[in-house]
Amino acid sequence: MRLHLPFPRHTQTPFIELDTSACQACWKCVESCPQGVIGSIRFLAHRHAHIDHAEKCTGCKKCVNVCPHAAIRYTHVPLKQS
Ligand code: SF4
Ligand code: SF4
Repeated sequence: MRLHLPFPRHTQTPFIELDTSACQACWKCVESCPQGVIGSIRFLAHRHAHIDHAEKCTGCKKCVNVCPHAAIRYTHVPLKQS
């Protein structure tokens, strides 16, 4: 079993933020992520998506768009062009 620690890196990538309290454990984001960034915690009643590989996130937004419970937010703010 994977040890679950509530570190920000397990709920964030440089592009998105996961709200585990809103997550309904449907696993649509896990299936949709082409980079394998999102995994899952499946321990009895303790079930939610989990960022496994934040460094692999490309910001494609597939997880944001597929989540039926708005538990994933796109948070990346591009730098201003000068
Ligand atoms: S933004 Fe794209 S690459 Fe990043 S976690 Fe979501 S689906 Fe995966
Ligand atoms: S798609 Fe949304 S509700 Fe479903 S597992 Fe992912 S974060 Fe949770």
